[in-house]
Parts: sequence; structure tokens; C-alpha cells
Amino acid sequence: MNIILFGPPGAGKGTQSQYLVNKLNNYQISTGDILRSEIKNDTVIGKQIINDMNEGKFVSDEIVNQLIEKLIHDPKKKDKFIFDGYPRSLSQAKNLDLLLDSSNQTINHIFFLNVNKDIIIKRIEKRKVLENRLDDELETILKRYDTYMETTRPVLDYYSKNPNFHEIDGTQEIDEITKKIDTFINV
Ligand code: AMP
Repeated sequence: MNIILFGPPGAGKGTQSQYLVNKLNNYQISTGDILRSEIKNDTVIGKQIINDMNEGKFVSDEIVNQLIEKLIHDPKKKDKFIFDGYPRSLSQAKNLDLLLDSSNQTINHIFFLNVNKDIIIKRIEKRKVLENRLDDELETILKRYDTYMETTRPVLDYYSKNPNFHEIDGTQEIDEITKKIDTFINV
């Protein structure tokens, strides 16, 4: 089962991804984690993206698409993906369709965790203390939220037509969101 978790930064995608990874024995593709590890390992890509990441801007579609291609084509992981933070632009969504098509896979569920800006700010300020992420400064959070809303709106329109699209109120308690997700995946 391939699942996309969709929603602004701080919506709880990471938490629900972990739940689904454990429950379904799937693999998480978190482009945020992949990009952070490029920076940590000081790779060529890491050097190219560090400024954009720290300022809360999106990394180019070209780089992100390139990083996930190999993962999606790994036969061991076929039909076992939880996408967290990808796709984030219409071009990425279309690229994902092509990559899945070419490896005979589809998207089984798309969960949109909907959370408003005020709650996002509170949640990310808390996370900043726990995880010490450079992009969790208030000004950057606001930038990330606005970038997300601008760039991701067309993706939302694109997926909302899919019969497997489910919008979930992401302001609920973690357990409530998990229960809701469970009712859809039905395993
Ligand atoms: P996240 O951990 O998902 O909140 O992502 C942290 C940052 O990584 C974002 O603010 C972007 O700078 C970058 N990023 C993560 N995923 C993507 C993506 N799919 N496309 C472009 N940039 C991304």
C-alpha cells in the first residue's frame, strides 16, 4: 500500500508516518529528512541546498525528484511507501505519477492533514526546543507556511479529485488522527 501524507509543516505528517511505517511495515520517504542528511553529510547537493533550506524556501523540483527516483524503483520497497513531505508542487506530483506508473505502482491513499496557521506556529515553536532545527525560527516558520500554501495549493486541487483523497482535521489529538487514518486503510 502506497500512502501520501500531505499538509503544512507541523501538521503531524512525521508522527503519522512513523505510525504507518510500524503498522504496515512500510518505508517512509521524507524528503525533508533526505535533504537534511545531504546537508549533514556535506555532499555536493547538501552545499547547493543549505541556504534555501535554512531560509524556509523550497528546494528545486529537479534536485528533489532526482533524490527520490532510486528509492521508488527499489523492488524491495515496491508498494510499501509512506510519502511524507513529497510531493509538494504540481511538478513533483506529476513526476511521482510517472515514477509510480513506470514501476507498476499506484497511490492507494492520500491523507491531507489540515491545520491552520496559528496552531502550526505553536507546534513548531515547541518542536524547535525539542529538535533544534534551524528552519524552525518564527520568521522562517511563517515563510515555510506561506511557501507551502502557495506552492501546494495546486497539488491539493490535483489530488482532491482522486477518490482516495481524505481530508482530516489535523488539529485533533494524535490518537484521534491515527484512528481516522485507520478507518480508511482498513487493515
Ligand atoms: P520538512 O521536514 O518536510 O518540513 O521539510 C523541511 C524543508 O525541506 C522544507 O522547508 C524545504 O526547504 C525542504 N523540502 C522538503 N521536502 C521538499 C520537497 N518535496 N520539495 C522541495 N523542498 C522540500
